[in-house]
Amino acid sequence: MKRKGQHFLLSAKARSFSIVEIFRLSDDEAFQLFKESRWSDTDGKPVCTRCGVVDNCSWLRTRKQWRCKDCNYTFSVTSGTIFANHKLPLRVYLAAIALYSNAAKGLSSLQMSRDLNVQYKTAFVLMHKLRESLQDKRHDKLEGEIEMDAAYVNGHVRPINRIENRKDLRLAKHRNPKKRAVITMRQRGNPGEGANKTLSFVAKSENQTTIKKLADNHIATGSTVFADEHSAYNVLHGQFPTMRVNHRSIYSGPNGENTNQAESFFSRFRRMHLGQVHKMGNLYLDRYANEIAYREDTRRRSNGDIFSDIVGRCAQSPVSKDLCGYWQGNKPAKENLMI
Ligand SMILES: [Zn+2]
Repeated sequence: MKRKGQHFLLSAKARSFSIVEIFRLSDDEAFQLFKESRWSDTDGKPVCTRCGVVDNCSWLRTRKQWRCKDCNYTFSVTSGTIFANHKLPLRVYLAAIALYSNAAKGLSSLQMSRDLNVQYKTAFVLMHKLRESLQDKRHDKLEGEIEMDAAYVNGHVRPINRIENRKDLRLAKHRNPKKRAVITMRQRGNPGEGANKTLSFVAKSENQTTIKKLADNHIATGSTVFADEHSAYNVLHGQFPTMRVNHRSIYSGPNGENTNQAESFFSRFRRMHLGQVHKMGNLYLDRYANEIAYREDTRRRSNGDIFSDIVGRCAQSPVSKDLCGYWQGNKPAKENLMI
């Protein structure tokens, strides 16, 4: 529904947009768009960041800020959001979101830095802020038919030149300690429409303890789980009706025993890894995986709709603990591992 005075990019949910439209936004238009997105519950009326009073503040025209009449606090359209203390014009952030939402297989920070003509460091933090905004509100329980599977990343060991110097890479002590398993859980939608809700996690390996914990926390009772022949999923028998497919002999059984939706997730994930970002640090692996989960879940929506959604998420996400002051030495303390 279009509200009176609402920006066209936010109002027409079903329409698509072109990048050119975003790059042509004036500073005022970008400001209005972000303001409407941030305070969508109050029809764009400003809400004090500190005391929460609605539309009771004076507008400081030259500073483009508000001063609350209740608590005298001064705030801007980005105060308390993921873009707080921003240095670039707001329309550059909107352009970044537009480029990001159009990139079906993700986008590297270097490419973003060239598109926006900003430093790589700026683009890196900006893109991780966008990823952080996608992480909220994605942890409801899945129900119905759930597919589970895992894929390993960052486990590559460079082969040694001379055969006599090579180590037996099957032994645990010779494996790459940075190797991680990305585990996905996908809830199937209507027949023929694929999955409609996806969760992703990072663990050191695909094992029974991890799988049990994930199933306990994220699958509603009475759901049916679909998994491959990996022994880690044996633990689910008894707790859920569990359908298995043995990939050595078949990819999809006669009664729908397959993990094809989970494989779709990993297909897109690998394309991002190999074709776009090239390096995924373990510190941020869960964010990359979650980005792909978001892209998979929104694959049938228009790019205008996805753009509005991400702008809204950024406008309503709090200041990032991990990324604020990143290049001044603030980094996440540890990676977000399941176990
Ligand atoms: Zn106030």
